[in-house]
Amino acid sequence: MSASAEKQPDSSDPAPALDFDVIVIGAGMSGMYQLYRLRELGLRARVFEAGTNVGGTWYWNRYPGARFDSESYSYGFSFSKELLEEWDWSEHFAGQPETLRYLNYVADRFDLRRDIQFNSRVSAAVYDEATSSWTVALADDGRFTARFLVTAIGPLSTPTWPRVEGIDSFAGQSFHTARWPKEPVDFAGRRVAVIGTGATGIQTIQTIASQVGHLTVFQRTANWAAPLHNGKIDAETQAKIKAGYPEMFKRCQETFSCFLHTPDPRGAFEVTDGEREAFYEKLYGERGFGIWQGNFRDVLIDRAANATISDFVARKIRQRVKDQKVADKLIPKNHGFGTRRLPLETFYYEVYNRDNVELVDIKATPIERITPKGIRTTEKEYEFDIIIYATGFDAITGSFDKIDFRGADGVRLKDKWKAGPETYLGLMIHQFPNMMMLMGPHTALGNIPRSIEYSVDWVTGLLRFARDRGLTRLEATEAGVESWTDHVKALGVGLLSNEVDSWMTGINSNVEGKQTRIVARYSGSAPAYRARCDEVAARGYDELRLG
Ligand code: NAP
Repeated sequence: MSASAEKQPDSSDPAPALDFDVIVIGAGMSGMYQLYRLRELGLRARVFEAGTNVGGTWYWNRYPGARFDSESYSYGFSFSKELLEEWDWSEHFAGQPETLRYLNYVADRFDLRRDIQFNSRVSAAVYDEATSSWTVALADDGRFTARFLVTAIGPLSTPTWPRVEGIDSFAGQSFHTARWPKEPVDFAGRRVAVIGTGATGIQTIQTIASQVGHLTVFQRTANWAAPLHNGKIDAETQAKIKAGYPEMFKRCQETFSCFLHTPDPRGAFEVTDGEREAFYEKLYGERGFGIWQGNFRDVLIDRAANATISDFVARKIRQRVKDQKVADKLIPKNHGFGTRRLPLETFYYEVYNRDNVELVDIKATPIERITPKGIRTTEKEYEFDIIIYATGFDAITGSFDKIDFRGADGVRLKDKWKAGPETYLGLMIHQFPNMMMLMGPHTALGNIPRSIEYSVDWVTGLLRFARDRGLTRLEATEAGVESWTDHVKALGVGLLSNEVDSWMTGINSNVEGKQTRIVARYSGSAPAYRARCDEVAARGYDELRLG
């Protein structure tokens, strides 16, 4: 590995012609922070990014109403005191435009763009054993070599469209929420369809209902959702937030999933019925993920406990939606509260009290095809000017599947992970030396920026270790991968969320081969995850094959 600017080419270097020390794929939050750290190490790094600018998730997901549902201040980068001091979040849960502005500010402030190549979608990455290096190919043109490869491609970044006939035949405008145009879309007086009622669909629907002529929501599976309770941040609160940053980030390090909220130590039946109801009422009235992440400790693992919160939220939906037939459609029947990733909403349920909004249950009357005029279900044809696909992502492994990763001896990652991902600490893969993953499978996700900062720092520590010792080959062992993968699978046993179809269990009806549940997510606690990774680093990465 060359040590940066000051180092001159050396004829004894086994691979003097490598373009970079490290190639990073993706300029979202992971890639941006990784670049910052690589520069500190004095390494020659290049980030390849498919978009025209930084921001990843917040660059692509420009759909109406896109916003945080973790508290803004708990979501920003924490690595720079100056940055924390300089940036004012305007709302408790900032909207996408503000978040994208923030990430652009970070890119400017740390002069990140000069090492990021935009409009550059990576199509393949191939490891060469002779030179212990990676060759990365871009979809359009260009091949670049580096000793190390870091993937920062995001767990929710490969959008998927329904596998239904006729999508291209529609004569009106159609958009996927994760490929929303940069120009504003005019909804006034338009007949609009939204397919999908996950976190994205819910934010879109509640935002555009009052702007459109008529809105038809096509719901396949009802999702539980709870109020976000957003609000502006006034000057006094701003000052308190800034003064409290050290304390707040410390708390994020201690909680189960790095959110501000962490499970209540009590079980749902260890209190009286009245106390339980009052606790749920309090959580329902509070901002953010408390009702999901700060609920009784057993609601996500015990069916009877879960039924109590599901029943409570179902009653809320019935109170908020006037037409009880519609309310009934909106109440999930096939999974309990919080067993899928909980969408947070702002007057979402009230949308269905509007005269210009209709809910179509496509389990009862499935979509047969998209037509030039609109959407035909088994019941009738609906005519639209705009169709919005809020149909989600080929999650966690999907972005890996899209790049032709080939490791030692030409092994294809897609083949290796056919039955589900196998990783070492969610960071490395056997037979894929010198490749590190940020926010890949089997890593603690939770409040993502907190997890990103940890993973980037771990990878940076490993690269520093390699640089200081002149190591050119770092590889996870087969035993290490087996042990971590088994551990991750064991952690998932007993979780109600692992018994439900969702992106969290690897299900996507729109992708061939993704109809069987897999364990792609680490579901243990973030502190336990970090302790395990720290221990590996403290022992000199002795579980890796180093060369
Ligand atoms: P999602 O949760 O996977 O929801 C996709 C929706 O589309 C589901 O309602 C799904 O129905 C429906 N769908 C998919 N294919 C369909 C088809 N062929 N026909 C009809 N309906 C179809 O995706 P998402 O809403 O984009 O959210 C994904 C994740 O992104 C979230 O869980 C969250 O982690 C993240 N996110 C975060 C924020 C935030 O922080 N503020 C906002 C948005 C998203 P089924 O349920 O029946 O499959």
